[in-house]
Amino acid sequence: MGTPCIVGTEHATDLLKDGEVITVHATRGIVYEGKIEIQEAKKGVTEKAVSTADLVTATEIKVIMDLPDFAAKAAATGADGVGLVRLEIMIANGGIHPAEYIRQKREEDYVYMLKEGIRKIAKAFVHKPVWIRCSDMRSDEYRNLQGGEKEPHETDPMIGWHGIRRLLDERKILQAEFQAVKELHDEGFDTVGIMLPFVIRVDELRRAKEIMREVGIEPVKDIDFGVMIETPAACWIIEDLCKEGISFVSFGTNDLTQLTLGIDRNNERIAHLFSEMHPAVLGEIAKVIQVCKKYKVKTSICGQAGSKMEMAEFLVKQGIDSISANADVVDEIRQVVARAEKKLLLDAERKKF
Ligand code: PEP
Ligand code: MG
Repeated sequence: MGTPCIVGTEHATDLLKDGEVITVHATRGIVYEGKIEIQEAKKGVTEKAVSTADLVTATEIKVIMDLPDFAAKAAATGADGVGLVRLEIMIANGGIHPAEYIRQKREEDYVYMLKEGIRKIAKAFVHKPVWIRCSDMRSDEYRNLQGGEKEPHETDPMIGWHGIRRLLDERKILQAEFQAVKELHDEGFDTVGIMLPFVIRVDELRRAKEIMREVGIEPVKDIDFGVMIETPAACWIIEDLCKEGISFVSFGTNDLTQLTLGIDRNNERIAHLFSEMHPAVLGEIAKVIQVCKKYKVKTSICGQAGSKMEMAEFLVKQGIDSISANADVVDEIRQVVARAEKKLLLDAERKKF
């Protein structure tokens, strides 16, 4: 949404009383007592960020776009498409858990709700790729939805029953999500692609492709069909995933870092150790890009790290095809990418002499 906020405060709900007025400087993570007046910055002191939409980069710059109502705002960045649409956010707004739609035999309502949301985004990004991620519902995160109380209690939901492993167990949910995308293709939104979350095995990809065929679309040929690279396992089997046939991969660095470093991303006590720039994570990314190039599979990133300058620079050097960032940093990332690409060209020129 482009609105900074503070999370993980631990005591805020105890300390703050109903009706108490506070001022939040969310960009810096500071909470002031009372109402702080904001002084108008003197002219020339703060300059408005310049749009870089005219800057052409070889690496495509896309946005992460979870909220259909913000599609127009995200499209105004001039992004080359949407690298990640998290269906969970649409689902949460709808108030009903996907498993509950199925239990109530309301698959059609689920398809309709998804289509409404995705269509809004696709309309704002006409002729540009919009990659939808199949739902990735962790069992602890959506208990407040209708039917959420029936979710299982898992020891560690982060590495539990979610992503493609769950969707293949609850096949009707996956079918409905593919059906929504198919119907949007029929309406003419044929740049809408699909990606599978939390893949660890080739047969997950194979089985998901079969389900896509059942709804009447040939994966890869008729639709961008990709997998998220979010587990070390996916990095190790990347060659086999490419051989099985995919249009693209997208690095989900939030999970990839969590699983590679063994750091629970929900645990703020160890959050300082969480770094996507850890050599182990970078090594995995570099290897996957290299293999994908061999198989002409497009590479992309949709984890939070794509919004970070040092990661963007690293990815350009590795030859990634596209980077997805939050809408509020698209300009910044585009500039970093342009500079990194220029540097690569200059270095290559210098080498010639
Ligand atoms: C990721 O893991 O990097 C990702 C984009 O998925 P999520 O943050 O929704 O787990
Ligand atoms: Mg993830």
